[in-house]
Amino acid sequence: MKAYRVAYLGSDGDAAIALENALKTLNFPFMRETGDPSGVQKAVEFQPDIVLWDIENSMPDETFPLEVLRKAGFERQPLVAVVKSGDVEGAVHSLAGGAVDFIYKPIREDPLPRMLAALNVGQKQLRLEWSNRVIEDTNDQVKGVLGNLADPAYIVSPEYQILWMNRAAEEIFGEGQRGGACHHVFYDRTEPCEVCQKSKGSARWRAMLKNGKSYRFISAVVRNGRGEVEKLAVGTDITPDEEVQKIHKTFISNVSHDLRTPLAAIDQYVNILLEGLAGELTEEQRSYVDVIGRSSFRLHNLVENLIDANKILSGDFKLRMEVVSIQDILDVVVHLLQSQAEDRGLAFQVQVADDLPPVYADKARVAQVVANIAGNSIKFTEQGMMQIRAGFMPRDEGRVIVSVEDTGIGVPKEDLGKIFELFYRVEKDKVYVEEGAGLGLSISREIVRAHGGTLWAESMEGMGSAFHFALPIYTGGQGQGAPAGQ
Ligand code: ADP
Repeated sequence: MKAYRVAYLGSDGDAAIALENALKTLNFPFMRETGDPSGVQKAVEFQPDIVLWDIENSMPDETFPLEVLRKAGFERQPLVAVVKSGDVEGAVHSLAGGAVDFIYKPIREDPLPRMLAALNVGQKQLRLEWSNRVIEDTNDQVKGVLGNLADPAYIVSPEYQILWMNRAAEEIFGEGQRGGACHHVFYDRTEPCEVCQKSKGSARWRAMLKNGKSYRFISAVVRNGRGEVEKLAVGTDITPDEEVQKIHKTFISNVSHDLRTPLAAIDQYVNILLEGLAGELTEEQRSYVDVIGRSSFRLHNLVENLIDANKILSGDFKLRMEVVSIQDILDVVVHLLQSQAEDRGLAFQVQVADDLPPVYADKARVAQVVANIAGNSIKFTEQGMMQIRAGFMPRDEGRVIVSVEDTGIGVPKEDLGKIFELFYRVEKDKVYVEEGAGLGLSISREIVRAHGGTLWAESMEGMGSAFHFALPIYTGGQGQGAPAGQ
């Protein structure tokens, strides 16, 4: 067995002799020193493996001097308290203060088993202290980075108490707000905000702050060095986005409503002409009027889509939430998609995993998402197949995933991140491959987000694409539909 070096810091001669005798039989090097700074210093130089601290060194109400001894040079040694027999209170205080164990004096029993156990516990304690220090360091680094951010960031306790704010947040809310309740300081509320009450973990929300600007916040759970849970939130200023969106919204709304009236007139006169009410048409004239009618119909659809998109993208819509199965949602759109795919000569498959739990969703809106992305798959696939699959999200049984895969033209790598932007369409050699307005994916992403889900894409140019969206399953705890845009 390794000869462990043991130091006793205390003035009790009997205890020292008993320890020395017990350890001599094992050839464990032993040293005895007083508990004053010079004694401690000499003991540090002895480089012991275990330090025995007689609590009589300390004043009666003093706590166990863990920090002092660590700073003096016992950086990693387990510290064992030597306590007068029967002094249960002293033993408990020592353990609470950081001692890994205690032994009673006068020393009658063989102290070795307790010391070996202390070595073992000491190793574990060191590992814990080390990992806590790493957590503290990492948290400090994160705070360092966030501290200089131009946008607000803060940390709150589970009791909604502000623990830390960066400079940008202090500029908005004023200094000296630490310790205050976040809903009070940030939003002048007396009760915690709904988003905080509902989500114990990560969350996303938008808010207008006291500086009159709008921010999109994301939050995540972090732990401090003592293992306590805290919530870190970081905001992004979206005021310019919102202003641009407002201009967009007004423009689209004016234009689309203004287009409705002349389009209705075109439809009406096309019908008058086709019915022969303005005189019989020749075959040639009839075919021209047919083209006018079909073009007007397409324009009409586009205008209606624009009006719908405008509502969704500005968060101006309410979800009609219900407990619904993925199969029920797919049933709304699958027949139409199947006949469209077959018209293009594509193989079409639908696979829904057994025992898939229901989701809490707006059936019509989620069906609209499936129709948009599956409609794209049909549009952008010349041959091969497209399939819709629904199953559990790998490694996340709390969400279901619906995937639409095709063997179509795919999306070039440089466009993949942009196809979800409003009006974005991929150009090939300066032409658009298929008709479209570039609305479907941005609308679909907003709808999925309003359900608390995510929509994303994978693709290889020339090989095909896969679009996936994940929705949280119904857990029984969901309230009424989240307002859009939250
Ligand atoms: P739209 O289809 O009306 O143009 P979307 O927002 O639905 O608008 O799609 C944006 C663009 O993304 C499309 O114009 C197309 O370039 C690309 N895209 C979407 N889905 C696919 C797909 N399955 N395969 C290839 N390209 C796709």
